[in-house]
Amino acid sequence: MGITSVLTSAAKRLEGKVALITGGASGIGEATAKIFTRHGARVMIADVQDDKGRALCESLGSSVASYIHCDMTDESHVRDAVDAAVSRHGKLDIMFNNAGIAGSLCMQIRKSEKADFERVVGINLVGSYLGTKHAARVMIPARRGSIVMTASVASVVPGMASAAYTCSKHGMVGLMRTAALELGQFGVRVNCVSPYGVATPMATAGFGMGVEELEEFFHEHATLKGVRLKAEDVAEAVLFLGSEEAKYVSGVNLLVDGGLTITNPSHGLFRYSDV
Ligand code: NAD
Repeated sequence: MGITSVLTSAAKRLEGKVALITGGASGIGEATAKIFTRHGARVMIADVQDDKGRALCESLGSSVASYIHCDMTDESHVRDAVDAAVSRHGKLDIMFNNAGIAGSLCMQIRKSEKADFERVVGINLVGSYLGTKHAARVMIPARRGSIVMTASVASVVPGMASAAYTCSKHGMVGLMRTAALELGQFGVRVNCVSPYGVATPMATAGFGMGVEELEEFFHEHATLKGVRLKAEDVAEAVLFLGSEEAKYVSGVNLLVDGGLTITNPSHGLFRYSDV
């Protein structure tokens, strides 16, 4: 039995939908491509990791998944990726602006490099702007669509990553809210999903740890205990935002952080269990 036939058609929440997933060759994007196709969607994966992207599409099946090389910093690539999804499948229902990089781990603005700041903002924020711009171009005439962007806990609190990354993710929330306001009149919804740490290739490389060690590290610093955040958990939130179940949800930054960002810094001094 192929992976696409695991769910009955009644349980498929994206039956007939077409999605473009940027950064879909790895991590959260890869997990989303798998869940989307399991739920009946046809996906186009846009990434710069061509071998990984093509191998993933092969494993998902060429009738439901295809790959396009797309560097999010190049507007012509983003335009072509959107047009390729429409010419192959006739429409675009879901745009997942997910491609991103961590950049330098330097936490101090005064020691950071302008070039790193521009690179991180260029891929994470400007890339998402381009994805939103070109998705809107084809979604507006259809009078429907769902645009989802992967922001981060760094979109609401500082100190989780570099200034460059934090600014890029804060900026994505501004982009999402602006686009939700502008595109609502055309029936297009726009939302962010904001995960806490997930041990994807980006994170394991950045922290210099293996998957299990990094998951343990994230768990140690998490608010919610007894569960490890996986790429699939983030993909489930994206599935919700892309599906009809979320047909009236727009302008939301959906935190998938186990309550991390509501943490009271004095929690360590006044533990609930102590009083
Ligand atoms: P990942 O490295 O596994 O996946 C990111 C993908 O983006 C890769 O396939 C990479 O090739 C692609 N990419 C990078 N630059 C690109 C470019 N210029 N054009 C096109 N594609 C490009 O990492 P991930 O953790 O799955 O990251 C996905 C998103 O999730 C990112 O936006 C990241 O900021 C965000 N995020 C990650 C975490 C985490 O802890 N892993 C937490 C919060 C948010």
